[in-house]
Amino acid sequence: MQNGTIFLVGAGPGDPDLLTLRAARLIKNAPLIVHDGLVDPAILAMARSDAQLISVAKKRSKHTLPQDEINALLISEAKAGRDVVRLKGGDPFVFGRGGEEMEDAHAAGVRVETVPGISAANGAAAASGIPLTHRDSASIVSFVAGQCKGLSDQDWSGLAGVGRTLVIYMGVKTAPLIAEKLMADGLAPDMPLAVVENACRPEMRVLRGPLAALPDLVEAEAVQSPALIIIGEVTARPNAAIAAALQECAA
Ligand code: SAH
Repeated sequence: MQNGTIFLVGAGPGDPDLLTLRAARLIKNAPLIVHDGLVDPAILAMARSDAQLISVAKKRSKHTLPQDEINALLISEAKAGRDVVRLKGGDPFVFGRGGEEMEDAHAAGVRVETVPGISAANGAAAASGIPLTHRDSASIVSFVAGQCKGLSDQDWSGLAGVGRTLVIYMGVKTAPLIAEKLMADGLAPDMPLAVVENACRPEMRVLRGPLAALPDLVEAEAVQSPALIIIGEVTARPNAAIAAALQECAA
């Protein structure tokens, strides 16, 4: 029997309209979809009525299925001759462990096709009217992961500051450590930032404040995952798109 293919598909940040045409086609035709928790229900609703949907939702510090078991599941289904759509929030190759799944599949002799998605940073930028680069404010942009594991070992020096934008994924829980780390690296306490929660979803919120107030902002506003922290002067530019909804941090 011929192996099936594993399609690593980016589901984008939420809104089904932000799927690529290829992702939408694969989701609509797939007999089997293995998805994580960030994929919007409206996107899963596009699947065939007889499709099998398997959730391998990951919550911070609580993995429903360990990564090696996810990889093994994808491979065994493909080896049984089924095409598998592995659906991930955002882009599969940006903090999505798509690389690990691809490498294991290749090692097992299974074909992989990757379909890019709009990563949360791009979705949040567009939805909040915050350009990640701007000729007057930033010509460098970096994406980092702010979750606990290894945070203090990561070298972020030079990634944030004047003329550059730092986008932090998975940083809600560690916001106090992040603010401390960046200021210890020499970043000004009044460096502006924005927190974009639920980007590209109806319940999106955009909060702004100076770096030193990040922990208070996250706590006072009870910011929930998924949210991104965007640090840099681009977040303080005139922004008609969010002016009405914007909540300035008092500190
Ligand atoms: N592969 C995904 C990222 C997965 S890591 C991508 O490319 O976007 C999960 C983190 O992504 C979340 O903790 C959050 O920081 C960010 N994220 C995902 N969807 C988001 C959304 N709709 N709004 C804000 N942040 C989001």
